[in-house]
Amino acid sequence: MLKSTVSSFKSLLVASFLTLTASVAMANPFTLAPLPYAFDALEPAIDKETMQIHHGKHHQAYVNNLNAQVATYPELAKMSLEQIMAKISSYNMAVRNNGGGHYNHALFWTLMAPVGKGGTPSSALAKAIDRDFGSLDKMKEAFEKAGATRFGSGWAWVVVTADKKLAITSTPNQDNPLMDIAEVKGTPILALDVWEHAYYLKYQNRRGDYLKEWWKVVNWDEVNRLFDQAMK
Ligand code: MN
Repeated sequence: MLKSTVSSFKSLLVASFLTLTASVAMANPFTLAPLPYAFDALEPAIDKETMQIHHGKHHQAYVNNLNAQVATYPELAKMSLEQIMAKISSYNMAVRNNGGGHYNHALFWTLMAPVGKGGTPSSALAKAIDRDFGSLDKMKEAFEKAGATRFGSGWAWVVVTADKKLAITSTPNQDNPLMDIAEVKGTPILALDVWEHAYYLKYQNRRGDYLKEWWKVVNWDEVNRLFDQAMK
């Protein structure tokens, strides 16, 4: 009798532990991936301290705040970030800001590589750039303008639109072109964070210098891959 009581108490403990573990995993479905390179790998374009704070504090906070919203919207746990973006207008501002913040930064890290390691635009992408912007230099100029003229905080983007054309746009705060509320919609293939937290330690108020330096660390190999995927 005593033995069976002890053993059922044990199974109860195990069961509660499993339930607890499962509910913790359910409550925190979004995680911060490590950077695909060292914190100092993008110097001198982007300094180590900026990368440490940007990834470890800012991006981590978006992940934590998005996880906190799963209590309000349990369905988020089962959705991809892309699925959340596509119906962002049905959620509150916390999901919009932190879901956007998580998607944007996760993409941003992959779009950069150490100087000399990022490759060049593929011939397919170069062709599309020439067709839609005139030249790579013209595309860069328009992209820098989008970043420089975004008042306050936000992002500059190159997207593939629904009709398979390239377009440049910018968004405020942590919005992005995948959101159903975006003015210009499309699949992002290039993204630049123009929030002050992305450049202020090194560039202070000189956002234009940051925009110019950034081209040195663009990971064109990844841009090419995203372009090919978006054109399918
Ligand atoms: Mn940022």
